Amino acid sequence: MSLTADIFVHPNALCESVEVGCGTRIWAFAHVMKGAVIGCDCTVGDHAFLESGCRIGDRVTVKNQAMIWNGVEIDDDVFVGPGVTFTNDRLPRSPRMVFPPVAQRYADPTRWLRPTRIERGATLGARCVILAGVTVGAYAMVAAGAVVTRNLAAHSLAVGAPASRVGWTCRCGERLALVEANTWRCPRCSEQFKMDAAGECINPVQSY
Ligand SMILES: [Zn+2]
Repeated sequence: MSLTADIFVHPNALCESVEVGCGTRIWAFAHVMKGAVIGCDCTVGDHAFLESGCRIGDRVTVKNQAMIWNGVEIDDDVFVGPGVTFTNDRLPRSPRMVFPPVAQRYADPTRWLRPTRIERGATLGARCVILAGVTVGAYAMVAAGAVVTRNLAAHSLAVGAPASRVGWTCRCGERLALVEANTWRCPRCSEQFKMDAAGECINPVQSY
């Protein structure tokens, strides 16, 4: 398998992967390792790094200097802001340390690698940090500089370090307004949402 003609790789980018979808553009000084999987119609900005084992869906925007490691899975339509840093190990040590318990841990990826998932349409703000093993729900909005240490429900608006949910966001990105008990509405596109029975997440009343 080789890259097709409708993929743009800037002459100063380093793209070692052959699993890049049609229409995707990889800009100068980005590095995409062999084994990184990228879908169609994505853009990867300057100095982004995509490690072997990461998986990226379609229409994803990866802004400059984002660091995406093995074990990170990013669904369709996600925005990864500039300088966003993922992690994939909750208790990292240098695997080269001369200490048998550390060497044993790093001999088997199942002992250290913690998968991270960013669901469809979510936004990760500039320079936020995503700790290993978390799931950021669909259409969630993570503020610039936030440190995400726990799972975020779909449509969460999360800020701070550690990040906490301070509201809800629409699919269009606007903050939702509480208009009556258990009902939120988007001031931009009027989409409405209701809380689920468990009181932990909101769902659109009707989908487009
Ligand atoms: Zn909206």
